Amino acid sequence: MYEDLSLYIDGHFLKGGGRVEQDVLNPATGEVIGKLPHATREDLDLALASAQRAFESWRRSSPLERSKVLRRVGELARERAKQIGQNITLDEGKPLAEAVGEVLFCAEHAEWHAEEARRIYGRVIPPRSDGVRQLVLREPIGVCAAFSPWNFPFNQAIRKIAAAVGSGCTIVLKGPEDAPSAVVAIARLFHDAGLPPGCLNVVWGIPAEVSQYLIHSPIVRKISFTGSVAVGKQLAALAGSLMKRCTMELGGHAPAIVFEDADVERAADMLAPYKFRNAGQVCISPTRFYVHERAYDRFVARFLDKVKEIKVGSGLAPETKMGPLAHQRRVPAVAGFVEDADRRGAKVLAGGGPIDGPGNFFPPTVLADLPDDSRLMTEEPFGPLAGMVRFRTFEEVLKRANSLPFGLAAYAFTTSARNATAVSNGLEAGMVAINHLAMALAETPFGGVKESGYGSEGGAETFDGYLVTKFVTQL
Ligand code: NAD
Repeated sequence: MYEDLSLYIDGHFLKGGGRVEQDVLNPATGEVIGKLPHATREDLDLALASAQRAFESWRRSSPLERSKVLRRVGELARERAKQIGQNITLDEGKPLAEAVGEVLFCAEHAEWHAEEARRIYGRVIPPRSDGVRQLVLREPIGVCAAFSPWNFPFNQAIRKIAAAVGSGCTIVLKGPEDAPSAVVAIARLFHDAGLPPGCLNVVWGIPAEVSQYLIHSPIVRKISFTGSVAVGKQLAALAGSLMKRCTMELGGHAPAIVFEDADVERAADMLAPYKFRNAGQVCISPTRFYVHERAYDRFVARFLDKVKEIKVGSGLAPETKMGPLAHQRRVPAVAGFVEDADRRGAKVLAGGGPIDGPGNFFPPTVLADLPDDSRLMTEEPFGPLAGMVRFRTFEEVLKRANSLPFGLAAYAFTTSARNATAVSNGLEAGMVAINHLAMALAETPFGGVKESGYGSEGGAETFDGYLVTKFVTQL
């Protein structure tokens, strides 16, 4: 049974009532699997008012109480992971194991925030005069408006909610209309875990209209957005004009550098499945593969061997390793990158164009010898495309890797400590992984630099964007 889709406002699951409904499609078949109610203006006002009312008491709640709710959310997420994961596969398309894994992985996010919420400390500053006490307090910023995307619909939403709720804020979240089941499931988790009404509200609608309305509201004090750079800039500009704090987790275009001294086969074995995870619809997905000219042939041959093992199909089929693209509009968007590369004389080593038949299927595609100014090497493809190019020197590859306005994730493979240190110092990225791929763990900060955004989610930094600093001096 697919999720019973609804809004969640002031502790109530709402739908029907003459609200506009949007079809939710299964990207593997094109079939309608659900109807998503859009919030009316009155719904948005109610969500804002209930978040404001709830903030007045939640801001004073004990960290132990917040921690208890988040812990319970983690437990319930583990219990319900199979069902929630199945629904993610149905509306987002990723293979079932990846979808269930996403939910289980996020149980840890809830637990991490439960632990960190108990350690939101201020400090005491030694005074200049006897009898003066100087305190630095960290207080919740207020009502947050958050916008989470469809590619990791559970992960991206729960990180924002856990950070808001754990810090004593309340939140109105607009989830991804294309893949909404995970966010409704999250609302049920928090509801069942005992979060007081109004602390979390979930709304749906036309993204630009809802975000404009919520950001303009004087009730909202903080914005969190995960999505494309273009939309992030619009929302940040609006928030800036109203002097509201933002966390922006935007697109990436990750370089993966394979040095001559790398364990080349191991690098290819790791990078190929990682590239095509969630059909490449991952902001930290490696996309530009810079391979040393003396390692290039070996790396590419091994990478292609691994690509052949990636079975494309419905995410519900047990043998599937890569599902469809999440929605139809992504198919021509991804094909456009290949057409551009083709026109510029690149070689198509695997895949190349959409797979016929129902569903938004696009095969793992590997392109070689692309010019550095081709679309694939400069714009975020957000799809199953890997571009392979050669490099000669360290200085040259670092310059090329840093040449784009993006700065989210970067990867490097080398057995030289000197290269490893120099490349991690030199890469302009919020996250750098060397010789392995572990990113986005609950205990590690996740976020970008340059146009990939600002602010971190996860790690000890996770509450920073949700707290304001108050200095108190007392004689
Ligand atoms: P899109 O730019 O139309 O939408 C991206 C996300 O932003 C969606 O979740 C959408 O609902 C939301 N959105 C769009 N306009 C909005 C607005 N004005 N206010 C609030 N939310 C808004 O693109 P798309 O075709 O859905 O996705 C492809 C692009 O999105 C990719 O190029 C990628 O950069 C980006 N994206 C990034 C992430 C990430 O993790 N950083 C996740 C999903 C999508």
